[in-house]
Amino acid sequence: MNIHEYQAKAILREFGAPVAEGAPALAADEARQAASGLPGPVYVVKAQIHAGGRGKGKFKEASAGEKGGVRLARSLDEVETFAKEMLGSTLVTVQTGEAGKQVNRLYIEDGADIDKEFYLSLLIDRATSRVSFVVSTEGGTDIEAVAHATPEKIVTFSVDPATGVLPHHGRRVADALGLTGPLVKDAVSLTERLFSAFVAKDMELLEINPLIVTKDGRLRCLDAKISFDDNALYRHPDVVALRDKTEEDEKEIEASKYELAYIALDGTIGCMVNGAGLAMATMDIIKLYGENPANFLDVGGGATKEKVTAAFKIITADPKVKGILVNIFGGIMRCDVIAEGVIAAVRDVGLAVPLVVRLEGTNVDLGKEIISSSGLDVIPADDLDDAAQKIVAAVRGRS
Ligand code: GDP
Ligand code: MG
Repeated sequence: MNIHEYQAKAILREFGAPVAEGAPALAADEARQAASGLPGPVYVVKAQIHAGGRGKGKFKEASAGEKGGVRLARSLDEVETFAKEMLGSTLVTVQTGEAGKQVNRLYIEDGADIDKEFYLSLLIDRATSRVSFVVSTEGGTDIEAVAHATPEKIVTFSVDPATGVLPHHGRRVADALGLTGPLVKDAVSLTERLFSAFVAKDMELLEINPLIVTKDGRLRCLDAKISFDDNALYRHPDVVALRDKTEEDEKEIEASKYELAYIALDGTIGCMVNGAGLAMATMDIIKLYGENPANFLDVGGGATKEKVTAAFKIITADPKVKGILVNIFGGIMRCDVIAEGVIAAVRDVGLAVPLVVRLEGTNVDLGKEIISSSGLDVIPADDLDDAAQKIVAAVRGRS
C-alpha cells in the first residue's frame, strides 16, 4: 500500500526525522490558509498523487499553466493561483503513464534553501533477507538513470537484523554522501530514525529523494515516498486509515474486498487461476503464445462460490479483456465450486468474449458436467498448453 508524500512526512516527523512544516489542502482557499501558517517567504505547492517525477511533470490542461507539479510560490496570492491551476487538473509524469493522474490534493510546505540534493532509501532486499540502504550523491533525479549510467555513484549496504541499526551505519551514509563536521552526527541520527520508522511500520520501501543539505547546513527530507507491506497491514490500523482509494485501481479495490490477489495488467486475456505459482505460469504461457495477460488473479485455495463469482465479474468488467482463461488445478479448491461460480457470474453479467476453461483435480468430472450442462458457450481445454493456445486463437478470431 502506498501513501501520499504529506502522510509519509507526518510519519517521519513522528520518528524525529527532519521535515519542513507544512499542511495538506483540498481547495485553493485552504492552500492559502495553510501557507499563511508557515514562516515563508517561500512556499512550495506540491501535487499529492501516488507517483513521482512531479516536479518535471506536465499538466494536460493549458489552464494549469506551464509549470509542473512542484512549484515555488513567493506570496500567498501565488500559492492560491498555483493551487487553483493544479487542483482538478491532470498531471502526467514518468511514473503515471500517458493517462496521468488527476490532482485532488496539495501539500503546502515551507520552502527550503537547497545547497545539495542526495538520494537515500531503505528497502527490503530479498536476496539477503535484510533491510538495505541505498545512498547516492546524485539526488533529485531519477535513481534508475543513475544506476544505469553511473552505478559507482550508488552505495548500498544492509543491516544485520540481529544487531539492528548502529552508529557505523550512519557513518557509512555520511561517508557515501561526503558529509563532514556536524552533518556526520546528523546523518547518524537520521539513519537510526529512518530505520526505526521502517521496522516499526512494516515498510517495504522508504525513499527520500531528495535528502537535502540546506544553505544553513542542516539535513532535511525534502520528498518522501513510503510503501507498506500489505501482509502486515492488519497490525497497523493507523496506516490503513491513510489509504486513499481514489489513487488505486478500482478493480483492485473490488478484489481486495473479497481478499482476492488481483493485479491489473495491460494485456487482453483475463485470467482466473488458483495458486500464485500456477497464475504466474498461466501468464507466462499466454505470453509464449504471443498474447498478454490482462491481469494476475489468484482466487486462492479454499475459495467459495461467491468469491469465484466476484473474481469473474471483476475480469469481465475490464474493457481491455478480449478473452478469458480459467485455469484451475483442484487440490483444496474443488472444480465444481469453480464451475458454479463461473456460471453464476455469467448468468448475472453475461459473457461477451470467448471463455476457455481448463479444470483438473478434485471433482473435475462434476465440474465439467456442470459447465457442459449449463449451455454456456465454453471452450473446454485438456491441459495448460492446450488452454493457452485455444484462448490466444480465440482472441485472434481464429477459434
Ligand atoms: P518529485 O518531482 O515528485 O520527486 O517531487 P520532489 O518533492 O522531489 O520535488 C522535485 C524538486 O523540486 C526537488 O528535487 C527540488 O529540486 C525542488 N524542490 C522541492 N521542494 C523545494 C524547496 O522547498 N525549495 C527549493 N528551492 N526547491 C524545492
Ligand atoms: Mg522526489
